[in-house]
Amino acid sequence: PTDLNTLADEYLRLAYHGLRAKDKTFNATLDSHFDPNLPKINAVAQDLGRVLLNLFTNAFYAVQKRKEQGEAGYAPTVTVATRRLPDGAVEVRVRDNGTGIPDGVRQKIFQPFFTTKPTGEGTGLGLSLSYDIVTKGHGGTLEVESVEGQGTEFSIILPA
Ligand code: ADP
Ligand code: MG
Repeated sequence: PTDLNTLADEYLRLAYHGLRAKDKTFNATLDSHFDPNLPKINAVAQDLGRVLLNLFTNAFYAVQKRKEQGEAGYAPTVTVATRRLPDGAVEVRVRDNGTGIPDGVRQKIFQPFFTTKPTGEGTGLGLSLSYDIVTKGHGGTLEVESVEGQGTEFSIILPA
């Protein structure tokens, strides 16, 4: 039995502090909304931790990229929210106000080795592995919504 609130909180901090340790100029607001009545779900916590770590790392990368564009008043923000769905399933949403994903790119992001990052910064395996862990490993779904220039939201739903 895994508590996704604790897991998401731990991995959000881990991702953020890991990036800040490498780059002192990196900065983002972390926003979390944890459902206090979230049921525990049967899960391989280590695997779901990797999924979350990848989603958070991608989110921080996207806000950093947008920040580099130098838009006045831009405040990089990464949000995580959990909630219990009416059927007892658990949803985790990871949202960023980063670069967003262009339409032509969005259909490829779950393919193994697909990356838009420079060599050394991305393997292109994170989302493909994440997709398998969530769907095949846990019988859940992993979906994305994104608006180019505004941000991206990934939603994980795991059955009760
Ligand atoms: P990697 O991070 O190594 O590039 P991923 O499988 O994690 O590989 O992601 C694949 C691609 O999906 C990224 O290179 C990027 O183009 C896009 N992507 C994923 N998450 C985001 C996000 N939050 N915002 C913008 N683009 C994203
Ligand atoms: Mg990644």
